[in-house]
Amino acid sequence: MFTCTTNSPEETADLANKLGQKIREGTVLCLEGDLGAGKTLFVQSLAKTLGVEGEVTSPTFNLMNIYEGICPIYHFDLYRLETEEELDEIGFYEYTEEPEGIVVIEWPDKFPESMPEDYIKVSIERTSEKGRQLAFSCTGERNEEFLKELETFVNTGH
Ligand code: ADP
Ligand code: MG
Repeated sequence: MFTCTTNSPEETADLANKLGQKIREGTVLCLEGDLGAGKTLFVQSLAKTLGVEGEVTSPTFNLMNIYEGICPIYHFDLYRLETEEELDEIGFYEYTEEPEGIVVIEWPDKFPESMPEDYIKVSIERTSEKGRQLAFSCTGERNEEFLKELETFVNTGH
């Protein structure tokens, strides 16, 4: 695990941009944090780096958005989901089991049991009006290596 602090939305967007430069197809990315932490802002910057040109908005009401960038990006927001069956109904497992593009999930902690085995997690905590602490961690060996690479890239720029 490694952590980063940011002092503005731009700095958080820059971190997401760095992740976007390194993230691989087939990755599931989970974003935890309270309302207003910056999860959607993070996804917006990530999507832009991945070549998405249209608007990226929080799928709180429609539960999932699909964007076309250099690969498909599936953006879930589980905030409003109430039961695990609903996850099944929206096809969540088909997208997350062997993802063909990149899957991004806001509020994964609502259904911890339903998350896939391997994912990268970013937990965002609000430390002040414009201050955020972002903790990057992962499950699975494959992502372990990736996370080390990302830490180096974030710290050194290569
Ligand atoms: P969430 O999806 O987690 O509910 P949003 O990304 O929609 O949160 O909103 C985050 C809000 O916090 C935005 O209005 C953003 O401008 C603001 N903000 C202030 N400082 C930061 C920061 N350091 N990083 C991210 N967002 C920040
Ligand atoms: Mg959001």
